[in-house]
Amino acid sequence: MTERKRKLLLVNPLNTTRKGLIIHKHVIYPPIGLGIIATLTPDNWEVEIWDENFDKFEYREADLVGFTALTSSVTRAYELAALYRENNIPTVIGGIHASMVPDEAERFCDAVVIGEAESVWKSLIMDFEQGKLKKRYHGEMLSMENAVQPARHLFHPEYKFASIQTTRGCPMRCDFCSVHTFNGSTYRLRPIEEVLDELETVEHPLVYFVDDNLIGYGKKSQERAISLFKGIIERGIKIEWFCSASMNFADNDEVLKYAALSGCRMVLLGIESERIDQLKDMNKKLNAKMGIDSYEEVFAKIHHHGISVLGAFIYGLETDTPESMAHRTEYINAASIDAVQSTILTPLPGTGLYKRMEKENRLILNNYPDDWQHYSFAEVVFRHDLMERGEMMREIKENWDRLYNEPTLKRKFIRTIKQTKSATAGIWSYGSNLQYYNLAFEGERPIRHLADVFGVGSLQTNPFS
Ligand code: SF4
Repeated sequence: MTERKRKLLLVNPLNTTRKGLIIHKHVIYPPIGLGIIATLTPDNWEVEIWDENFDKFEYREADLVGFTALTSSVTRAYELAALYRENNIPTVIGGIHASMVPDEAERFCDAVVIGEAESVWKSLIMDFEQGKLKKRYHGEMLSMENAVQPARHLFHPEYKFASIQTTRGCPMRCDFCSVHTFNGSTYRLRPIEEVLDELETVEHPLVYFVDDNLIGYGKKSQERAISLFKGIIERGIKIEWFCSASMNFADNDEVLKYAALSGCRMVLLGIESERIDQLKDMNKKLNAKMGIDSYEEVFAKIHHHGISVLGAFIYGLETDTPESMAHRTEYINAASIDAVQSTILTPLPGTGLYKRMEKENRLILNNYPDDWQHYSFAEVVFRHDLMERGEMMREIKENWDRLYNEPTLKRKFIRTIKQTKSATAGIWSYGSNLQYYNLAFEGERPIRHLADVFGVGSLQTNPFS
């Protein structure tokens, strides 16, 4: 008689009460971490991923339930974990939020994976099978050689992009970011041939490189990026892709040339602010060193290769005023930036910003874990020294209006097409703008699609909107 397979249910929870960036139905790439956990789980287990980005959770039987969560979705993860704990089914939580506040996570789940899961998942499963599940598992930051590949077949089929990771870690220490705490401040690189081997198995024609910075810093990193892009071309891997990078993306023309030839159509650049003093305050060293005056040249070089620029900006910085935020919007609208991600400064646990605000007693929404759902980059959760909370929110919405109104977006779209000479770059950046508009005004205004704006049915194929 064959033994019954045990069932592992992996859940990607959705922040159901509030909109916001990142964990949301508009997210276009799948939860790679859960896919990696699925691969690491032994064959005597059946694994299912329940993804609330698409389907509201329905209780289902399982022997063990695992959650991943960002800060804004952790409230929902704890809510779902409670359903299983009532039925004496053990729960595990991992991901960046639980890693930053394990004492809290431990109150809501039976086990917490702190850090990267690869080095501990198999022993966690073994402990579970022996009835000895521990409270905490501390993952090591392993080398990226022979990195575990996600079980892609378990991802929801409607994701618009496949995701793949080629590096982990970041040597920068931006005040508002916890990546260096979670993935380390050493830039760990996967061997190029392994990345290419994995890319060959990806059936999706659209790919998002989930690295925090695909290009990295310095000459060696540039050479690595060129080898990766040349490898994609030489192996005949037909994809169109986008990625995140730093303002040094345009430092080497060969990087841009081969990025474009291998399918790059858009790059997200963390610009954050157009003010040097603010960049220094948030420890955004590279941007501050380059200086705002050099940015137009950077954008022009990127456009020259048919790639559009998705600029990420923060509103509500600690020295912001209504006037400075209006100035930021003017800068963005005048600059050759094709798509705009405009978020509200949000102190996430594990960041220098959070520690400072906590110490100064400035976190207004601090009834945790319930209030974590407001940490979605779309709400003001802290006391600002120069603006009252309601006023700040009103001002930010006005800025969103000025960034994402229809005439501005149409003007940007036409300019993007002219500057990049790429229809895909234009459509992707326009679609991204609509996506951020929809996130900003969700629930308050009707969702807008590219086809609605242009009245062109075929543009409905745009993966971003
Ligand atoms: S914001 Fe980007 S550059 Fe800064 S620490 Fe985070 S990952 Fe690194």
